[in-house]
Amino acid sequence: MNKTFIGLGSNIEPRKQYLDQAIEKLNNQPHIHVTKMSSVYETPPVGYIDQRPFLNMVVELEVKLESLQLLAVCQQIETDLDRKRTFENGPRTIDLDILLFNDEYRDLDSLQLPHPRMVERAFVLVPLCEIAPNQIVPTTDKAIEELLLDLPKEDIQEIIRWEEPRHKA
Ligand code: AMP
Repeated sequence: MNKTFIGLGSNIEPRKQYLDQAIEKLNNQPHIHVTKMSSVYETPPVGYIDQRPFLNMVVELEVKLESLQLLAVCQQIETDLDRKRTFENGPRTIDLDILLFNDEYRDLDSLQLPHPRMVERAFVLVPLCEIAPNQIVPTTDKAIEELLLDLPKEDIQEIIRWEEPRHKA
């Protein structure tokens, strides 16, 4: 059994529904179990900033798949949920990134592990710290809670725990 963490993001409505559907599709796979889920956070866009805010979260999975097989599953789910590749860091219905896969290191174009930008992204480290504060990131030899302390405070303050809007009866 392999332990892995996936970062999910969406900034096209219905954002929460896209996150829910992606998790359901992961859990419906025969060799994947969703074992932990972080809260949902609303986060400002990074890179290309002239777009709507994201909802982000992180899930822990136990999988009986190799990392490249898991990548193929994630990409199929993105396609099923109408993900269009417009431009780098552009708006998306759903984004699934493999953050960590056991303590595997990979440097392929198609799969880099640990995810190379995870340690500089508050929208990844804040939800990941909620479910796995002591998890070590192999390339850094630091735990998630330590890596979070290395980020600028302003970046962390922008990551707001999000709640489902209440609909009037
Ligand atoms: P994005 O547009 O951010 O979804 O990036 C997708 C591209 O990144 C795909 O070509 C993937 O094969 C590649 N990629 C490299 N490393 C990873 C990773 N750890 N998780 C997901 N996609 C990855």
